[in-house]
Formats: sequence, C-alpha cells, structure tokens
Amino acid sequence: MDAGMKDIWLYVQHRDGAVEEPTYGLTAEARRLRASLGGGGLVTAVVLGNGPVAGLEEMGFHGADRVLVVDDERLAERCRGDVFARALAGLAERHGPACVLMAQTAETLDLGARSAALLETAFISRVMDLQVDEDGVLHAHRPVANGYLFERLRCTDPKAPIIAFLPAVLAESVPEGETRAEVLAESMGAVSLDGGARVLRVEEADPGELDIEEADIVVCGGRGVGRDADFDIIHRLARAIDGSVAGTRPIIDWQTLPYERQIGQTGKTVMPRLIVNCGISGANEYTAGMEKAQVNIAVNTDPRARIFRFADLGVVADIHRLLPHLCERLEALRGHEPPAAGKD
Ligand SMILES: Cc1cc2nc3c(=O)[nH]c(=O)nc-3n(C[C@H](O)[C@H](O)[C@H](O)COP(=O)(O)OP(=O)(O)OC[C@H]3O[C@@H](n4cnc5c(N)ncnc54)[C@H](O)[C@@H]3O)c2cc1C
Repeated sequence: MDAGMKDIWLYVQHRDGAVEEPTYGLTAEARRLRASLGGGGLVTAVVLGNGPVAGLEEMGFHGADRVLVVDDERLAERCRGDVFARALAGLAERHGPACVLMAQTAETLDLGARSAALLETAFISRVMDLQVDEDGVLHAHRPVANGYLFERLRCTDPKAPIIAFLPAVLAESVPEGETRAEVLAESMGAVSLDGGARVLRVEEADPGELDIEEADIVVCGGRGVGRDADFDIIHRLARAIDGSVAGTRPIIDWQTLPYERQIGQTGKTVMPRLIVNCGISGANEYTAGMEKAQVNIAVNTDPRARIFRFADLGVVADIHRLLPHLCERLEALRGHEPPAAGKD
C-alpha cells in the first residue's frame, strides 16, 4: 500500500488512568507527518494496559482520528516490556501503519527497541525532527556526541519504523475542534506470559537514585556549582528533600554526573512537582527540558540570569553560602545526620 494511505500511529503513555502530557505533543507531529505523506491515513493513538484510561475520546480534540485500545490483564505489569512489545508488534502486524511515533522515556526506549526487533524494523531514538522528502522517504534528525553534532537518517526500509522523539522538542498541544476520536477495542492475540522476565517483587527506589523523568522532586546543579567535591552540596540538598539529582550539560561534560542525568534539549525532559535549579543560567536548550515542572525554584548570584524568568521563587545568592545553612535546617527538621566534616 502507498505510504500516504497508511495510518500514522502514536503510542499513548498513561499513568493512574490518565494520559500523560508528551502524548498530546505527538498528535501534532502525527498530523504534520500525515500531511507530508499525502494526507490519506488516519492519526491513530494506541493504548496498551489493564484498566480504564480517561480522556481517550478527547484525544480527538488534539487531532487523533481514532484510538485502538488493548485492555488485557496480561498488560497489568508495566515492567514487562517483553509482553507490551509483543502486544504492540502484533497490533502493528495486523494493521500495517506507516510508522509508530513515541515520546522518548525509559518506558518507550525499552518498548520501542523490543517491538522493532520483533517487527524486524528500525527503532530510531532521540529524534528532534522528522521530514518527508519528495519520494515519500522519512528523514530523521537527531543529536549525536551529546548534542555537539547532528545526523540525518533516511528510512528506506518499507517496514514501519518506530520513532522516539525527545520530549523537549514536542510542542505543547492545545485542544482544537470538538471532534471526538473513535475508540476501538482490540484484542491482544495469543501472547503468553511465559519466558522473558519474571517479576519477583517491586521495590521502591531511593529518591536520589530515581530516574529524573520519574522523580517528583529534582535538584539540578549547573556550572555555577562547580565540579566533583563542589557538587556534593547538590547531593546533600537532594537527600534532605528526597529529590533526584540532575545536571546541566557542563556538569555532564565534566563527568560529575552521567549523561542519563542531563536535563535539556539533548538530555531528558522532566516534569516534577518541584525543581530546584542551582547555579544555572537558564539557556533555552536547558529550559526546554524543565519548563513543565509545577514549581520552579532558582538560586543564582546573577539577578539577571534567564532562569529567574521561569522561577516561582528566585533567590539571588551564592550556592555555596546558602545551601549548607539550608541543608543544616532541613536535616535538623527531618532528624537526618549531617555529612562528615569537610564534605557538604
Ligand atoms: C545543540 C545544543 C544542545 C544543547 N543541549 C543542552 C542540554 O540538553 N542541556 C543543557 O543543560 N545544556 C545544553 N546545551 C548547552 C546550553 O546552551 C548551555 O551552555 C548550558 O545549559 C549552560 O549550563 P549552565 O547553566 O550550567 O552554565 P552557565 O550558562 O555557565 O551558567 C552558570 C550560572 O551559574 C551562576 N553562578 C556562578 N557561580 C554561582 C554561585 N556560586 N552560586 C549561584 N550561582 C552561580 C552564574 O551566574 C550563571 O548564571 C546545548 C547547547 C547546544 C548548542
């Protein structure tokens, strides 16, 4: 079938029965892609899980034509990426979309790679832009070398590629129109739970170790904090408020934190309840990854720093003078032991 007639799929991420934000940004990408491919296919959202998800018909207001829902008790455990992948691959085999779009998170990196392996197609992660050339071939642009270089990939394989967008590049989708999406129940097919992973128990992660995309509270340090031992104050504050530690690109370049803790356009997008930005100027490549946080606190010595435009609470202060006192007070309140002398 002509690619222009095929549907554009987007994978719906949901939690506690509600659709998560990056999904809506994908609908805009899907509509744009459909127009570039000739406009014949349907923008189709795909929901996998066990139990109701609210607001699926309303995905039509964001541009989805229809929603395929696989609601099955075999999809009760989100950590069974192998089972989700078999469900998604089976669905894609039956319907034959032009491509499957995802917002990149820890969950979709696992799901996308596994589904692509089953479908024997390409999985392209970290995508910032997707274009269609005059021959209808998809071109994906993505950063390499930690954002210092870009590469362009041509998807010449006729099989539907799976494409994960960096969430920071997905525009916020404002509902438009009043057309509801058609919601269709789909069966999961003969997927067995045997083999693959077995869940023995689920353990609560230490907040400091939590993936920054999953964390409720994030403490992020920038160049103004300094490297190595100077950065200990950020870990100390994070411990005191049960936060997860993140950094701007200079911190990752200095190898003070690993790349998976970078926030920004070429790092991760975080949407915590609270983010504390310490010694960060607020370059737009950084703020693209944190501006959706609910409450923003910024500490910077420069009152004109751009980060203050995003702050609900801004403090003009030197991190290394302010934070030790703040941490002492917080530790005393919570009955925590202060760190050994000489360390922050
Ligand atoms: C293609 C591309 C992609 C990029 N992707 C990313 C990305 O994903 N993430 C990212 O972070 N960056 C990214 N960058 C880099 C980005 O442009 C900025 O250079 C970077 O975000 C700056 O980091 P910073 O705020 O830590 O450092 P700086 O801009 O150097 O800011 C340091 C701040 O600390 C303050 N300060 C200094 N001392 C103190 C102190 N003692 N107490 C309090 N405040 C103090 C200063 O006033 C200053 O505002 C990208 C750049 C490009 C070109």
